[in-house]
This record gives sequence, C-alpha cells and structure tokens, in this order.
Amino acid sequence: MNDKVVIIGGGVAGLAMSLFLKKANIESVVYEQAKVYGKVGGHFVMHPSGIAMMELLGLDEELMNNSHALTDFAVMDKDNNPVFGGMEEELEGELADMPLFVNITRYHLIDILYKEVQKQGIDVQFNKRLKQFTQDTKQVVVEFEDGTEAIGSILIGADGVRSKTRQQLFPEKELHYLGKTGVYAIVENEKLGELQKYFSQDAALMYFHDNFNFFVAKHHPTDEAISWSIITTEPEQPSVEAFDEKPIEQLRKELGERFAGWEMPIQQLVESTDHLIAKSLFRIELMQQYSVGRAVLIGDALHTADPNAGMGTTLGLEDAMVLAKLLRDNDYVQAFAQFQEVRKDRAEKVYHSANLLESLVLDNADDYALFDVGIDMSWEK
Ligand SMILES: Cc1cc2nc3c(=O)[nH]c(=O)nc-3n(C[C@H](O)[C@H](O)[C@H](O)COP(=O)(O)OP(=O)(O)OC[C@H]3O[C@@H](n4cnc5c(N)ncnc54)[C@H](O)[C@@H]3O)c2cc1C
Repeated sequence: MNDKVVIIGGGVAGLAMSLFLKKANIESVVYEQAKVYGKVGGHFVMHPSGIAMMELLGLDEELMNNSHALTDFAVMDKDNNPVFGGMEEELEGELADMPLFVNITRYHLIDILYKEVQKQGIDVQFNKRLKQFTQDTKQVVVEFEDGTEAIGSILIGADGVRSKTRQQLFPEKELHYLGKTGVYAIVENEKLGELQKYFSQDAALMYFHDNFNFFVAKHHPTDEAISWSIITTEPEQPSVEAFDEKPIEQLRKELGERFAGWEMPIQQLVESTDHLIAKSLFRIELMQQYSVGRAVLIGDALHTADPNAGMGTTLGLEDAMVLAKLLRDNDYVQAFAQFQEVRKDRAEKVYHSANLLESLVLDNADDYALFDVGIDMSWEK
C-alpha cells in the first residue's frame, strides 16, 4: 500500500493542501491537469482568515510583497457620488474595525504557493487529468486521462467548480447556472496612460449598478498593472459563443458601452483591456456530505463560492489547513467526519453572505461571513 495522499488539482486549495500536509509530516503528490501554470485568470480578494492561513505557512511576507492591501475602498454610483450618503459615518465606524483584506491576482498567489511547494520538495505532476478512481479498504487507485495510474492512502479532490472527483462521489449533485456571469481582467499601466490617475489609486473602487457590480483596484506593490471585474446578474445563461468565447474586441466594446456617460472613464478602461476571462458562473447547492470512504472534497470542488461573497480562495485555504490538522491528529475516518462537522457552519454562512452582500444591507454585520471570521485558525492541537 502507498501511504501518500493523492491531491487532485493544483489550484490554490490543492497547493495549500500539500503544504499544510507537509507541515503535518504527511506526504502528498499533487496531480494537475494543466501542462504549466500560465498567467491565466484575474484578481480575487483575500479575506483576513485567508491571510492568516498564509501566515501559518510562513508565506505572509511573500503575500504582502505580491498583493495590494485594501485599507480603503469607496462604493460609488455612476455620477461618482458615494452610494451610502447619510450612512457613511456609520459605515466608516464599522469599517474602521475591519481587519486587513488584500487584492491579489490568481497567478501571483499560485506562484507564491508553487515556489514554496518546490522548495519543500513536494511532487507536483502536470498534465494529469483525473479520469476516475476506485477505492477499497486499503487504498485509492486513480486513473488519469493519459492512461497512467497513481495509488494513495486517501484522495483529496481540489479540482475546482467542475470537479471530476465530486461528480464521481456525488453524481446527484448537479452544477446549476448561478444566474450570474463574471469577467475578470488585468490592465498594464502602460496601456492605462492618462487613466492611471483615476484607477491606479490606493483605494479600491466599487460600483453597484442595476444588474452588475464593478470592482477595480491595484493588486501588486510594483504598480505595473491594475485589475477589474464585473459580476452581472443575468437570469438566462448566455451560450458559450455569446459570452465565454466571444472575441475580446467585441466583448470589451459591449462591456464598455455599459459605462457610456458615466463620470469616471470606466468605458475607456474596459476598452484598453487586453487580458480578460469571461465565464458564466455555476454552483452546486450546499453540500451535506463532504467525503465518501477514502475520498474527500475541499475548496471550490466542495463549495462553489458565489463571487459576491468573494470567499472562494479564502475558503479553500481554510479547508486545507483544517483538514491537514485533523489528518495530523486522527485517522482519516475521524478526520473526514470532523472536517465536515467543523466546516459546515462556515460554508453555510458564506453561502448566505453572498445574498446579503448583493442587497447591500450593511446593518447586520454579524451575518456577514467576512466580518465574523468564526473559525479556529490555530495550528495547535
Ligand atoms: C484558470 C483559472 C482562473 C481563475 N480566475 C479567477 C479570477 O480571475 N477571479 C476569481 O475570483 N476566481 C478565479 N478562479 C477561481 C479561483 O481560483 C477559485 O475560486 C479559488 O481560488 C479556489 O481555488 P480551488 O483550488 O478550489 O479551485 P481552482 O482555482 O479552480 O483550482 C482547481 C484546479 O484543479 C485543476 N483540475 C480541474 N479538473 C481537474 C482534473 N480532472 N484533474 C486534474 N486537475 C484538475 C484545475 O486545472 C485547477 O488548477 C480561477 C480558476 C481557474 C482554474
């Protein structure tokens, strides 16, 4: 029998999982379907507990050197007036107590984690796409699309929203269109030119408009680029050709037109963008069961977090730490059972926060998963 843990997916959750397992003296191998890590994806916001997880991995300095601290943000309308009007002071009081959030690109975060994984001698195998797996009382046997196999004591599915691991464990859990689309973009400062003075500021800017939210912020101390995203509520799922794979010139023109006549030159910003990804967003309902036998899920494979909660990355990092700690102190049966037990409330709160944030009713701060961390973040027993 092979005692190694098999991790499927080398995204944020999978790489962090391998590092926390190493910290717990447990060997793992990561199998990632991509051939290499490219400069793909846009930005995400990392919440205080995600930052705490990076600290536990000794990567907080690297994180700060490769992200932008969100110490200030403004929620504005199309005329560039603050949305909260009379509520401003109240809100400022609330926000004054807020712990640190950072904005970071996916590729910078993957880079930090992957460099550490390499430094620690953890095996990451690329071009390995999970096809299926079987398990018995002793082990898990994994088959990849290229016909090769891997054997491990347990399998951790960190293979994202479209998780093959989840499909095999819980075939009844179908992915549903979330009713929203997302566009994530990065613009180099040299492309910004004059626009820099509007968008390359320390404050993150957010615009909540009819059926979409727009966010723009810096994401790196070198200030060579900024990132923006638009999450749109769109009840009918657009076809792949009409959205995800639409030629970039057309997509940015259409997105830009939404901001015609706005006070801030967001239209020009959008039209100056060369790098963006567009995708219809999907979700599964809250999971009641996290594992079957020797196989368990973490990260987006388990939670498919709504972008309005902005918690996907943070949840994945937390899952990795909690599961590694439990595996350090228990056999896998107990560890998986406790993992589900301790993570359920958190997952539920995040799930509901997305709806609360959408309505922007900020008078019940305790209901927001982001204000109330509510998890045990220590690595100690
Ligand atoms: C290419 C990409 C770009 C993204 N860009 C953004 C963004 O701009 N903004 C944002 O908020 N979120 C983005 N996300 C989602 C974000 O990374 C996650 O919500 C969050 O970081 C949680 O990470 P995760 O590791 O659980 O999932 P993911 O980041 O999705 O990672 C899953 C990993 O598993 C791999 N994988 C999938 N299927 C298989 C398989 N069958 N066999 C082996 N490996 C497999 C994937 O290639 C991926 O590396 C992106 C995800 C991806 C994959």
